Amino acid sequence: MNITITRTTTPKAKPDWEKLGFGKHFTDHMFLMDYNAEKGWHDARIVPFADISLSPACAVFHYAQEMFEGLKAYKAADGSHMLFRPQKNIERMNNTNERLCIPQVDPDFTLEAIKTLVKVDEDWIPDGEGKSLYIRPFIIATDPFLGVHPSATYLFCIILSPVGAYYAEGINPVKIYVEDEYVRAVKGGTGFAKTGGNYAASLRAQQKASEMGYSQVLWLDGIEHKYVDEVGAMNVFFVIDGELITPMLEGNILPGVTRDSVINLAKSMGVKVTDRRLAIDEVFEAARNGKLDEAFGSGTAAVISPMGELNKDGEKIVINGGKIGKLSQKLYDTLTGIQWGKVEDTFGWTVKIQ
Ligand SMILES: *Cc1c(COP(=O)(O)O)cnc(C)c1O
Repeated sequence: MNITITRTTTPKAKPDWEKLGFGKHFTDHMFLMDYNAEKGWHDARIVPFADISLSPACAVFHYAQEMFEGLKAYKAADGSHMLFRPQKNIERMNNTNERLCIPQVDPDFTLEAIKTLVKVDEDWIPDGEGKSLYIRPFIIATDPFLGVHPSATYLFCIILSPVGAYYAEGINPVKIYVEDEYVRAVKGGTGFAKTGGNYAASLRAQQKASEMGYSQVLWLDGIEHKYVDEVGAMNVFFVIDGELITPMLEGNILPGVTRDSVINLAKSMGVKVTDRRLAIDEVFEAARNGKLDEAFGSGTAAVISPMGELNKDGEKIVINGGKIGKLSQKLYDTLTGIQWGKVEDTFGWTVKIQ
């Protein structure tokens, strides 16, 4: 399939690269592609970034049949433009599609679409420490029909947003509230899928935590409220007695690309890594015994986000004196080093945009 390109005749002024923040600015173009039963995915096109017009009856507005992804393009030390493990995002995209009854996308074509769009807007990839171009592919159900069934038509869209360094003032560990009332997902549900409904269901707990002065929620499993699932919209890791432990993939947590990268990187550094069920009581017990060395979240946006404090039912534990741990820092430096082309990529994770 061909991608037709219509370039904007009125390019936008670039934002202040030093005040980008996250997800606030969008580039000059976007990728669109339609789906219907007769033609499958068709009419792939790059057009000027603009509002889209949809019937208020569209299925996505009522029953949330949609999926999204998130990855980044980086300007490497040698000036080339790189993606980080995009094939993993596209593979996950199709796993989400399958769960949400959204038609599969062709992995090679989708990678081509991402690369082509980034190339068209390559002067929007910010230069400088920690900055990148966030890539947001998503698919929405567009059938104008109020019945509950999988849509017959879809729109696939990719938008790009230049984002600033996540840690503009150095990495500050955050305070986490262990949520034991609301849950994010259950096995058999959509926890492993990157879909908006999971986020809608998480907002109330997030709001409750921020009202109490906490920046994120630590999610427990949806059945026993006993095992650790995720932290905010990130996967979660604990260093207990020198061992790196992360919850296993059982269908309720999101299989993060960063999670997988952290596991492989830590193993290559000779760290013992275990993925298994981890009870929150085990974490607190380890903390009481002085064996909880470090704790952090992992995700594309922040890469590594250390936790400085956990509060469960009023019992508070401070992790590593509220400072980033040694392994967390080493993983952060190595992973971001690979992403920005400063550390040799022995894993073959980076993909150049030619
Ligand atoms: C996207 C996401 C992650 C992190 O995945 P990465 O591929 O590492 O960015 C973790 N948890 C949830 C709920 C997510 O949506």
